[in-house]
Amino acid sequence: MNYMGVSSRKARVRRALLRWGRSNFRPFWWRQVKDPYTLAVVEVLLRQTRATPIQALAKDFLSKYPTPRSLAIGPQSQLEADLLPFGLNVQRAEQLRALGESLGDQSFPKKLEAILRLPGVGPYAASAISCFIFGRAVPVIDVNIARIVQRVFGVEIIKGEPRKNKEVAQLAQQLLDGKQPRRINWALLDLGALVCTQRRPKCSQCPLLRSCSYAELLECAA
Ligand code: SF4
Repeated sequence: MNYMGVSSRKARVRRALLRWGRSNFRPFWWRQVKDPYTLAVVEVLLRQTRATPIQALAKDFLSKYPTPRSLAIGPQSQLEADLLPFGLNVQRAEQLRALGESLGDQSFPKKLEAILRLPGVGPYAASAISCFIFGRAVPVIDVNIARIVQRVFGVEIIKGEPRKNKEVAQLAQQLLDGKQPRRINWALLDLGALVCTQRRPKCSQCPLLRSCSYAELLECAA
């Protein structure tokens, strides 16, 4: 692809994602929250499992632990028991407690670098908080988003995980173009979960079909 080709492809992909998202966003309750602590806890709870089945459980968990302080006090054994339904282990309970202790009564940090320093908050959760709560144009790259970017732009990855690949990260950043980052990231997350799945992607239902290198290859191979 030449420069103009890549550039116009990005613009087309962005428009298609925004259009698709309008009628296909998944209605997770945590997408409406404004509180970074709540989203930080949700991201920890989501780590071992799929989002849809744990929506009600996550709400119950947060009504029991509504503030960082509530995570920091109280018996560790109770916290561990409350994490069992999420398939989370003792180590995750320790991380959540450390998060509660670290935040205490202070306000939640706003800068990505500072969020990344919080215990138990990895790069994905930090980017999600930065984008979805503070509205920053930060790509939220999980395996699904990495897969879509890799397939659409035909990124060749010889070694290492796609979600840690520099070219994938750059393209995901450029797709945001500083505008509507929440909606673009949600659309990518939802497209990866619903349409561009690891096995048998549903290309015929995909809004990116006309821009996708992988779909072109499939068509040539058919
Ligand atoms: S056209 Fe197919 S491979 Fe390309 S993004 Fe859509 S579902 Fe994924």
